[in-house]
Amino acid sequence: MSIRFTLKPLAALSLIGLLGSQVVLAAEPEEAASSAQTTSNTTVVMLGTGTPVLKHERAGQAILVVVDKEMYLFDAGPGFVRNFDALSGKDFMPEDIYFSNESVYGEMNKVFVTHLDSDHVMGMPELMLRPWIMGRSEPMKVVGPKGIEAMTTNILEAYVDDIDHRLHGTQPANPEGFKVDVTEIGDTQVVHQDNKVTVTAFKVPHGSWPEGMAFGYRVETPEKTVVISGDTRHDEALYAHFEGADILIHEVMSETGVDQLPQDWQDYMYHAHTSTRQLAQIGEAIDPELLVMTHPLFFGQTDEQLRDEMAGYYDGNFVLASDLDIYE
Ligand SMILES: [Zn+2]
Repeated sequence: MSIRFTLKPLAALSLIGLLGSQVVLAAEPEEAASSAQTTSNTTVVMLGTGTPVLKHERAGQAILVVVDKEMYLFDAGPGFVRNFDALSGKDFMPEDIYFSNESVYGEMNKVFVTHLDSDHVMGMPELMLRPWIMGRSEPMKVVGPKGIEAMTTNILEAYVDDIDHRLHGTQPANPEGFKVDVTEIGDTQVVHQDNKVTVTAFKVPHGSWPEGMAFGYRVETPEKTVVISGDTRHDEALYAHFEGADILIHEVMSETGVDQLPQDWQDYMYHAHTSTRQLAQIGEAIDPELLVMTHPLFFGQTDEQLRDEMAGYYDGNFVLASDLDIYE
């Protein structure tokens, strides 16, 4: 493999200082990278990399793709909104100003949900309300499986007193930014298209969720194809959606760890999730420039052990994502 990762020293140092995170350049030839910078830039930020297992250093699932300062968010797990603040002032982000629709908060205006497991949506109330207070003045676009409309409606109902006092009290507030514009999907389809970016949702098999209730997303930008697996078991039928990915962001579980579980839990896990060995097969078949392991289920293994396990199966370039990792 001729792919290299280049650390951006200043950004990397500041992030490492905060949270031990890493900034990785996704291995384009240098000439291509510099010419791309003059046209269109795609940046991926891991805002949350966690699972239902509590880890203080991992917020709930949330992946941000930024294309020329336009933001595309995938999932809204618990606690990720706080990580968003660490991006203030980054050159790929909108301006760092408050109380404006042009701000980093105001432009947090669309989210694509993979499925309704709580580790992927428990941050929805915060995503709906906090950027509104900080400046979003348009309804947020929400795409997700059947049930996401009822969830957002019920969230607004739950916070009705907060919304009322901000709208009708003495605090300046706009009347639209807390609202949502929801599209429910049940099948593989294009869910967003603008002049630069196409987002396609594709069905994935995840445990006992019925077909059409769990999705991955393929994001095609002028510069890159980024594919987000969502939560899924290994299924070669998905390769058609992974094909051509520059950055493939895929869930993972430790094979060593899962094999130590009781048989009924092993059966469940392999019905719902993808082991390191299976992910290595996917990597070999797809050959992305960068394979990102996220949503790591460790079952007692450490980060290092999970990385070592993967390295034993896979020759390509991969990273185990941490919160606030940046790939560009
Ligand atoms: Zn999950």
